[in-house]
Amino acid sequence: MTEDRPDALYERLRTFEGRPAATGGTGKDPVNAPMIRHWCEAMGDTNPAYTGPDAIAPPTMLQSWTMGGLSGHTDGTGRSTAYDELLGLLDDAGFRSVVATDCEQEYARPLRPGDTVTFDAVIESVSPRKTTRLGTGHFVTTRMDVRTGGELAGTHRFRILKYAPARRPATPTGPAAPAARRPRPVVNRDNRGFWDGVAEHRLLIQRCTGCGMLRFPWLPGCNTCASPDWDTVEACGSGTVYSYVVMHHPPFPAFDPPYAVALVELAEGVRMISNITGVPYDKVRIGMPVQLEFLRFDDELELPVFRASEA
Ligand code: ZN
Repeated sequence: MTEDRPDALYERLRTFEGRPAATGGTGKDPVNAPMIRHWCEAMGDTNPAYTGPDAIAPPTMLQSWTMGGLSGHTDGTGRSTAYDELLGLLDDAGFRSVVATDCEQEYARPLRPGDTVTFDAVIESVSPRKTTRLGTGHFVTTRMDVRTGGELAGTHRFRILKYAPARRPATPTGPAAPAARRPRPVVNRDNRGFWDGVAEHRLLIQRCTGCGMLRFPWLPGCNTCASPDWDTVEACGSGTVYSYVVMHHPPFPAFDPPYAVALVELAEGVRMISNITGVPYDKVRIGMPVQLEFLRFDDELELPVFRASEA
């Protein structure tokens, strides 16, 4: 983002700050155990705080209690006319594309099964005109306050960019185009040990030293007992294809579709996403035995992949 200049349109857009984006909303269902259970299963979150007689809802479910589902809200809850007007002004100014950029949540108190949720949303801010890689436009931030029994449970800030797409330079093709390289892994302090292992041709699985649970991918703490302490075990390298998809579209540089992306269950019991080598994409099958190997893609990237044991 480079530009930051006020203009006539921006002065008009700013007058929407503080106006409602949605008012008087009521959750379609009270906070309830079945939705919590489905959420936890989908997220793979086994935290014991979310089950049992004293269960609380996962805090990150905050927004889900406000959503109208496929049929939408039928009690008039919805976008305000002010918000529609603001988006209309941006459309008319040529900023017709939209992308959700980020959301932030703050939690004030836990929600429990039986709580009824009410919510209001306000247009919190409209940015000056900004130029991003996507194009030029304005960021619009809305803040939703979620309450139960009149008490604030949390806030949900949601930011979009309404923009006019930048014209993209033509994609280079042909013999002059540089060969695309595989994306680099993002190595941080939470997963560095894994990549150090890969460099030594060892596939390391994290093991909680509190409860002994193995986990993959690497995480800062244990989902079972919340302990931050861990050591590692080295995978023996054998596994089976637990599931897979075949990628046809969209194309990504450095990948040559169609190709199979597999969820491999290691002999130790954890699962990881990887490539299957040694067989064509249409010969990959659920239950197929596979064996770990390390495949070098370029001078700095080597990745664990799995070779099909039966061709
Ligand atoms: Zn543990």
